[in-house]
Amino acid sequence: MTNSVRVRAPGKVNLYLAVGARESDGYHPLATVFQAVDLFEDVTATTSDRLELTMTGRAAGLPTDESNLAIRAANLLAAHAGIEPRARLEIHKRIPVAGGMAGGSADAAGTLVALDRLWRLDLEPATLLSLGARLGADVPFCLMGGTAMGLGRGDALTPLLSRGSYIWLLITQRVGLSTPLVFDAFDATPGPPPEPPAVEERFARALAEGDTTYVVMNSRNDLAAPALTLHAGARQVFEACAHLALPAILSGSGPTIAVLCPDGETATSLGRYFREHTTADSCLAAHGPVCGAHVVDET
Ligand code: ATP
Repeated sequence: MTNSVRVRAPGKVNLYLAVGARESDGYHPLATVFQAVDLFEDVTATTSDRLELTMTGRAAGLPTDESNLAIRAANLLAAHAGIEPRARLEIHKRIPVAGGMAGGSADAAGTLVALDRLWRLDLEPATLLSLGARLGADVPFCLMGGTAMGLGRGDALTPLLSRGSYIWLLITQRVGLSTPLVFDAFDATPGPPPEPPAVEERFARALAEGDTTYVVMNSRNDLAAPALTLHAGARQVFEACAHLALPAILSGSGPTIAVLCPDGETATSLGRYFREHTTADSCLAAHGPVCGAHVVDET
């Protein structure tokens, strides 16, 4: 009998993020390319007579009640299976909160995978993906991992061929950005209404060919301008990247900035530079793509 399951769930960066005009339901149509990176959340689920959650690591200020995405995931999965949600969840967070790297979604994805195993539900991947989509638009990608195009709200996923490995320096900020506020600022941008979003064919070809430099130099993020307007720290880092001619992208709605590095040593020395010369909170080396939420230990 299984008493404890440990799952690792990845964060993501958006290599491409085109945003359309807000629709009547309040959502924006997206055309995005996600890449899962090895900044992992560890989710451990253990047998218990009730549902409880503790969080360690980069979890300061997060609620552990019903509003936490991990608790919501546990309740949704239990309701789907018609059982009581009984488990002790321990999450070690590495992904910055409100950093544009889908940390909460990774916690939800990790919880679904861990409890599916602990409760011996053995659900089909497609079922977990559709439960995940009910919790948040980025949850399905945290389950799937790799590299994928996301249409609709970002949750209609198609895996993409992506050759090569991307070594990133992730520059995080102490204060995060609220995704809805960034979308509000996007809506308030003067100019003609945005076109229906699509991923350019040439971009997808560069991914498949492993042309990592082309990918990052031609990366598009329609939320970058509004996010950088709202966040002085991210703006400072982005300007420093431009000054140094570094291939940098803003992840999702920010404020995390990912710099493509030729190797790990460059990532380390650039990290030292950004720590000394900007208000960056932390500089972490990471690589992608990596696989989605998966069991790493079971006792
Ligand atoms: P995304 O890139 O998916 O837009 P994000 O990485 O910018 O998201 P998250 O860290 O996922 O942002 O969190 C957004 C908000 O969700 C937080 O401010 C917090 O209030 C709420 N939240 C609920 N549960 C969690 C959780 N387990 N981890 C992080 N945030 C959570």
